[in-house]
Amino acid sequence: MRTVNAYAAPSATGPLGRTTIERRDVGPKDVMIEIAYAGICHSDIHTVRGDWGPVRYPLVVGHEIVGTVSAVGSEVTKHQVGDRVGVGCMVDSCGECEYCLRGDEQYCAKGHTQTYHGIDPTDGTITQGGYSQAVVVTEDFVLRVPENLELEKVAPLLCAGISLYSPLRHWQAGPGKKVAIVGLGGLGHVGVKIAAALGAEVTVLSQTTSKKDDSLRFGATAHHATTDPETFTQLKSSFDLIVNTVSAKIDMAAHLGLLKVDGTLVNVGAPAEPLEVPAFALIPARRSWAGSSIGGIRETQEMLDFCAEHGILPETELISADDINDAYERVLKSDVRYRFVIDAATFA
Ligand SMILES: [Zn+2]
Ligand SMILES: [Zn+2]
Repeated sequence: MRTVNAYAAPSATGPLGRTTIERRDVGPKDVMIEIAYAGICHSDIHTVRGDWGPVRYPLVVGHEIVGTVSAVGSEVTKHQVGDRVGVGCMVDSCGECEYCLRGDEQYCAKGHTQTYHGIDPTDGTITQGGYSQAVVVTEDFVLRVPENLELEKVAPLLCAGISLYSPLRHWQAGPGKKVAIVGLGGLGHVGVKIAAALGAEVTVLSQTTSKKDDSLRFGATAHHATTDPETFTQLKSSFDLIVNTVSAKIDMAAHLGLLKVDGTLVNVGAPAEPLEVPAFALIPARRSWAGSSIGGIRETQEMLDFCAEHGILPETELISADDINDAYERVLKSDVRYRFVIDAATFA
């Protein structure tokens, strides 16, 4: 076992603070990673505050992790000491079910092991995430970070990036397709960059027009305010695909009305309360409403390689460990452009 410094939530209401946690010994198939940067995802905040169910505290969150390999087990073949690597939202899965076998570990029939607040199948402990100095992960769940992607900015691709890449690929965003991204936050801004690089014509639907310049800079060709009723008249029946990244209630009927015949609206944002979908927003144009969760390991690697090829990186603001609580407040106020990344050197 190795003791490492970390930043943990002590309860649903107390501020996160410094602590130490144990990392398991490097097993034959394991990789030890010295964490360089960890992104702050909205899910981290929902989890530590108990929004998504009871939590076993203290808990270290963080599932956008990048760093360097410092040790490998005797049977490891995919990674070497010194490699730049990343870890996203999963650290294990059964490896045997139909979904794991086809590379959709995120939909593992037995449930994948989450990077934090999961149950570690190797020792039964609660998994602890990336707000720490180092982590031990089985090699199959460790991604290669291409050399030309700046390590300081790449971390958010491991959750936000793949959460958008996977549905954009699944619903075939590309040349000739009109795609709308709802919400220009941590997820949405990466979605715009990826969808544009895939060749789709991208529109951003945001509450206001305050981020219009950013939308265009990220590759969108249009930006409309959802608070303006004109938007829904003007853009009626115009998109093949809409990806909704907003984790709050939106007017589903109005947004579904923006889809063409056979269009799909995919939710990747997860509001705590149910969304209301009138059947008549779907039936007259054979529309679909769908959900999508991150992406498999093979697809996550493909996403990193795609981002390297197209020079796609998230927009990030680097903070130190002691800024985490302030950063949480700013995320909740949507006061971040567009993702906080913690410098893991400051856990020392
Ligand atoms: Zn996340
Ligand atoms: Zn499985």
